[in-house]
Amino acid sequence: MPEKFVIALDQGTTSSRAILVDRKGRVRGTVQNPFTQHYPQPGWVEHDPQEILSSQLAALTELMVSHKVEPSQIDSIGITNQRETTIIWDRLTGAPIANAIVWQCRRTAPLIEQLAQNKKTLTIIREKTGLIADAYFSASKIQWLLNNVKGARARAEAGQLAFGTVDSWLTWSLTRGAVHATDVTNASRTMLYNIHEGAWDPWLLELFDIPASLLPEVRPSSSHFGVTAHSGVPAGIPLSGIAGDQQAALFGQCCFAAGQAKNTYGTGCFLLMHTGTEAHSSSHQLVTTIAASAPDTARTEYALEGSVFVAGALIQWLRDDLGLIRTAAQSETMANAVPNTAGVYVVPAFTGLGAPHWDANARGAILGLTRGARKEHIVRAALESLAYQTYDLVAAMQEDAGTQLSSLNVDGGASSNNFLMQFQSDILQIPLARPLSIETTALGAAYLAGLQTGFWENTEQLRALRSKDQLFSPTRTPTNCQALLEGWAQAVARTRHQPRGKETL
Ligand code: ADP
Repeated sequence: MPEKFVIALDQGTTSSRAILVDRKGRVRGTVQNPFTQHYPQPGWVEHDPQEILSSQLAALTELMVSHKVEPSQIDSIGITNQRETTIIWDRLTGAPIANAIVWQCRRTAPLIEQLAQNKKTLTIIREKTGLIADAYFSASKIQWLLNNVKGARARAEAGQLAFGTVDSWLTWSLTRGAVHATDVTNASRTMLYNIHEGAWDPWLLELFDIPASLLPEVRPSSSHFGVTAHSGVPAGIPLSGIAGDQQAALFGQCCFAAGQAKNTYGTGCFLLMHTGTEAHSSSHQLVTTIAASAPDTARTEYALEGSVFVAGALIQWLRDDLGLIRTAAQSETMANAVPNTAGVYVVPAFTGLGAPHWDANARGAILGLTRGARKEHIVRAALESLAYQTYDLVAAMQEDAGTQLSSLNVDGGASSNNFLMQFQSDILQIPLARPLSIETTALGAAYLAGLQTGFWENTEQLRALRSKDQLFSPTRTPTNCQALLEGWAQAVARTRHQPRGKETL
């Protein structure tokens, strides 16, 4: 019998990837195709939906060719995607009415500012969607397209148009228009979906002036969405798993139950904590979102989500702007070259302080410098700042959820830094588990697809595949950590509300 695989399509913000996953949960091949970023105006970010599709199909084809995979060897396809990015297309021709408005795009910030004048509206949005009203989410992006693309509103009202996040666009395209659907995790990032009722919310649709006929059907993340029918892919392959990137990573890390969490150390950090069937609302302005569930899970499951704005980006800054390191990996050697930071703290509040401090006017700082400070101390303090920021987020989340984490799963580019992982474990005083494959987003999408088809039996089987984690356990004393954390808290306090410099006058 030829070996069988699940293929994950990981449609990210800067590239489309296809990943081959075998029954043991091993990544056997990856193909990555970057695609064009469009910046038509300052603060605007767009993608061409056709290029998203073509780069994704090319990655899939190349993966099959390079790994000699026959169509009959593909059990199923799972999709994971950049979240919130908004596409509207014509139901008849399949042609997008405009470029995709990417999650990073700020063009609709004025719409949200207008809404924010009414505090009650913000509260209702938060109660219904779990989100803090922002231009980031799809709702205002849809409204913008309907109001600014010629004829779009009339066509939408006549039922001729379809809206989708990237997963939905890919599903529609791969099934040649047979399926207009999305999954609960992606729906929960649109700011139009009532996460408690599990339905598009009429009040929100009215608020953003969006006809319900535009919207995809919402299904569980692990369900039979349809089968491939596009000429660019082998026909008849089940599409049976969909989840937004962060929720896919949570699932790929085998966080299936309340109290389990993962932190992704990339450009920024994304921390998600599974909270079971309870949707906790945060008193630290973290968002409540829907988690991806295994098939036949009777009730909707939720997660708390928070992010650190500047994480790996700080290491890039040390490399590209300060020239203190040649490669990101070198930061580890340099940090280990000194026993501590000699009292130096780096607070990377380049764009303000996020959760739980929320101070948009704070600016970054390097504090505690003495004549004895060397570049190794600064590099070490920079790495430690990733761990401190994560600590603050974890502390806020634990308070919101009323649970203590017993361990933390980690992934993302900077999780390969052993110094950082050890320091993180020390500061949190809990063990960290780093899976052998840090491709957790792709694995999550593959798991969701393969659980639906029976390629994998259940979540216990998936958990058992994760035996080769590298563990980091706390080695410092709690007293020592407490002293370091107090230093960090003081450093953060000193960066708050910096007076703006002359350049802004
Ligand atoms: P993203 O998906 O956000 O682009 P990745 O998960 O690919 O990010 O991680 C890349 C980030 O991780 C970069 O910002 C880089 O500076 C950082 N990084 C990569 N390797 C290391 C390392 N060994 N130590 C510290 N930071 C690292």
